[in-house]
Amino acid sequence: MLFKDVMVDEGLKKQLVMLADENRISHAQLFLGKKGTHSFALAVAFAQYISCSNRHDGDSCGKCPSCLMFEKLQHPDLHLIFPNCTTKEVKKDNDSKQFMSQFRDFVFAHNYHIDFDDWVKEMQSENKQISINIRDCSNIIQQNDIRSYQGGYKIYILWKAEKLHYTAAPKLLKTLEEPENKTLFLLLAESSDQILPTILSRTQLVKIPPLKENVIRQHLVNDEHIDEKVAADFAAISEGSYTKALGLIKKQDELHHLLKQYDNLLKSLNAYVTNADLTAMNYLEIQNMFGEIIKEGREKQKQFINYLSRMFRNELLLHQKSEHLVKAMAAEHEILERYKILFTVKNAAPLLNECNRALYHIERNVSAKLIFTDLYFKMAAAFAKR
Ligand SMILES: [Zn+2]
Repeated sequence: MLFKDVMVDEGLKKQLVMLADENRISHAQLFLGKKGTHSFALAVAFAQYISCSNRHDGDSCGKCPSCLMFEKLQHPDLHLIFPNCTTKEVKKDNDSKQFMSQFRDFVFAHNYHIDFDDWVKEMQSENKQISINIRDCSNIIQQNDIRSYQGGYKIYILWKAEKLHYTAAPKLLKTLEEPENKTLFLLLAESSDQILPTILSRTQLVKIPPLKENVIRQHLVNDEHIDEKVAADFAAISEGSYTKALGLIKKQDELHHLLKQYDNLLKSLNAYVTNADLTAMNYLEIQNMFGEIIKEGREKQKQFINYLSRMFRNELLLHQKSEHLVKAMAAEHEILERYKILFTVKNAAPLLNECNRALYHIERNVSAKLIFTDLYFKMAAAFAKR
């Protein structure tokens, strides 16, 4: 993996290159990037750069023997550690090594945009806890007094450091603090909250910022050959994550259906509020729509409510004349404009609270019909009081 192919902030790449060039690499680093960040690619590119015998212009050469081994993720001084569990094939004593070829294939199949939920599916863990366990940590410690094969750094990439099992992490502390024989630890995580403080205090934090909207748009057009307009739409709602943008594009129809449902719902609520007349809301139609959503199960119910929350937040931004902060597709913009009049600072918080309450109740198996009916009339009341 070359730096040029990593989809992260260019400034951050330059910073890592500079640290390597000036030989100021701290031996334990925590790469922190939200779900969907190209952090695994960044870690491999950094490791490859450090090991490359002919690096130039701020990148690895891609041609030296070391680079060629990195390309296959088969460099003897590159150690990949990732969450795993026992499976049908590996019935006991599981560790990362036993799943290495499966993991490499997984990385290549996703162009290094790897996601934990996909890996869980890949492992077919059947609801088993999947973690970086004691055995993986013991392997690291055992290798501590061995020198690297190629004379450079021994590099450990721990993907999903928040999955370090709490019984395994303490074993690693001393090695993280005083590694021997030129060792570099790159821990990757999405959130620092779930990382043990003892690990946090022993690593240098490298924050990977979300990608800019126009960078995502460009990549969608150039790499995935997606239409300019569609790319702009999905870059806008990707929250700075390329993987999220790709995932959303696959679900385009679903999103347009959600928008249609949003439009129907708001049309009904708008009619109720402006006419102060219960018959104008055409509740029967809304009830049928809710029935459809309810029939599709809990995940779809939550998806609909989450969609409402996102649209409500955007409506409020429009109301406050902060159009530049609105994250929406062009078609959504149109609908948002139509109903922004209904939203005020006064009713925004109650509306979002009602959505959260509905989500809470869906999780707890309260009757969905009740939840949706209640939500509808709570919303109507909030709009009436705007
Ligand atoms: Zn090279």
